[in-house]
Amino acid sequence: MCDRNLPKGSDLVATEDRNPYDIVRRQLREATEQLNLPPSVYEILKQPLRFIEVSIPVQMDSGELRVFTGFRSQHNDVLGPTKGGIRFHPDVTPDEVKALSMWMTIKCALLGLPFGGGKGGIICNPKELSRRELEGLSRGFIAALAQVVGPDKDVPAPDVYTTPQVMAWMMDEFSKTLSRNQFGLITGKPIVLGGSRGRSEATGRGCVETVLAAAKKLNMPIDGARVVVQGFGNAGSVAASLLRGHGAKIIAVSDSKGGIYNEHGLDPLAVLSYKEQHGTVVGFPGTETITNEELLALECEVLVPAALENQIHADNAHKIRAKIVAEAANGPTTPDAEQILFENGVFVIPDVLANAGGVTVSYFEWVQNLYNWYWSEEEVNHQLGLKMNQAFEEVYAMREKHNCTMRRAAYMVAVARLAEAMRLRGWLERNTAVWRS
Ligand code: NAD
Repeated sequence: MCDRNLPKGSDLVATEDRNPYDIVRRQLREATEQLNLPPSVYEILKQPLRFIEVSIPVQMDSGELRVFTGFRSQHNDVLGPTKGGIRFHPDVTPDEVKALSMWMTIKCALLGLPFGGGKGGIICNPKELSRRELEGLSRGFIAALAQVVGPDKDVPAPDVYTTPQVMAWMMDEFSKTLSRNQFGLITGKPIVLGGSRGRSEATGRGCVETVLAAAKKLNMPIDGARVVVQGFGNAGSVAASLLRGHGAKIIAVSDSKGGIYNEHGLDPLAVLSYKEQHGTVVGFPGTETITNEELLALECEVLVPAALENQIHADNAHKIRAKIVAEAANGPTTPDAEQILFENGVFVIPDVLANAGGVTVSYFEWVQNLYNWYWSEEEVNHQLGLKMNQAFEEVYAMREKHNCTMRRAAYMVAVARLAEAMRLRGWLERNTAVWRS
C-alpha cells in the first residue's frame, strides 16, 4: 500500500492544504521517498531552478504608463528545454506559477518528452485591456525574458487567457530581437505561423485516450457509459464530443454559470453552439438546470473535471459516484479528497497523465518547427494516441506493482526518469553547481 500519511517537514502543513505549491511538493516528496531515492533528488526538485520576476512597462491607450508584473518559472531542465504556458490573470501568484511549472516537469517526464517544466504568468485582467495594450504587454514580457527563453532554452505556450494571437506577437518580438525567424520559440501559434494541426483538440483527445485505456482495464464498456463533464470549455467539450463518438452518453455538463442534466444524453456539438450563442450551457432546451456541486455528485461511469483546481475536496469527495475520474483540469482533486476516492474504489486518472495531450502536441509543434516539415492532422492524432497509451501503460504497471493511486504511480514513473537523468549528469553529487541553459 502507498503511504498516504503526510510527510514530516516544516514547509508542509497538516490540515487540508489547497496551495498548489505545497501540494506538488508533497506529491514529489512522497514519490521520491517511495522510490527510496537519495534526499538530494527531492532537494533539487522541490523548487524551480530558476524563477524570474519582471516588470513590464506598457503605454496604455490613455497615454498613462502602467507597469505590470510577470513571472517565469523554469523548474527543471535536466531532460531538455523547459516548456509550459503563460497565463494572463489578475490572481496569478508566484506559488501558482511555480507549482504549475513543477506539474509540467512531471508531465513531460511521464510522457517521455525531451522537455522540462516551465510556466509563466502576468498579473493583469486581459478583459480590461485593449488589443493594442495586450500586444504591448505580450511583446514587453517576451522582450524582458529574451535572454532566458528560446527553442533550446525555454519554450512557452498559451494558458489561461492567452491565445494563438498572443503567441504570434511573442514569436514576432523574439524573432526581431534575434534578427531571424524563431518559430520554435513558442507553441500554440496560429497554423499559418507554424502551429500544429490537432493542437486545439489535443488535451480533450488525450484525455479520452486515457479514459478508453482505463475502461478497458476495468472491463467497463464505453458504449452506453454515462459521462459527466464539469467545465464545458476547450478540454471538456472536446472530451465530451469524442466520448460520445465512442458511444458514451453525456448526461451532464457545466460551466461557471451552472450545469445542465438530461438522463437520456446530450449532443455536445449542439450544446457548444448553444453556448456560443448564449454565453453559457444553462438553458439548453430539454435539460434540467443543476449546480456544479450537484453535477459532481451524479451517478455516472466517467466524471471529467475540466474546469479549475480544488473542485473535488475533502468535503465533497465522499459524494462522488463515478467509477472513473479523468482529470482534464490541472489539480481538480485535493490530496485529502483523493484518499477518500481511493478508499471508495474510484479510479482517478491524474491530471499529469489525463491532460498531457496538450503538451504532447505542443512538443510535436516544436519538432515540426525545428524540421520545417508539417504533419497531417491524422499523423498528429496517431502519434498522440501512441504517446498517451504508452504513458498510461507505464503508470498502470507502476500502480499494480505498488498497489497505489494512479497519481502516485505517475509521479514515481516521472521522478525515476528525472532522478536517473540527474544522476547521469552528475547533478546529485554536486547539486550546487547545476548547469543552467
Ligand atoms: P477553457 O477556458 O476553455 O474552459 C474552462 C471551462 O470551465 C469554461 O467553460 C468555464 O466556464 C468553466 N468553468 C469555470 N469555472 C467553473 C466552475 N466553477 N465550475 C464549472 N465550470 C467552470 O479552459 P481549458 O483550456 O478547457 O482548460 C480547462 C482546464 O484544463 C484548466 O484547468 C487547464 O489548466 C486544463 N488544461 C488545459 C489544457 C489545454 O490545452 N486547453 C492543457 C492542460 C490542462
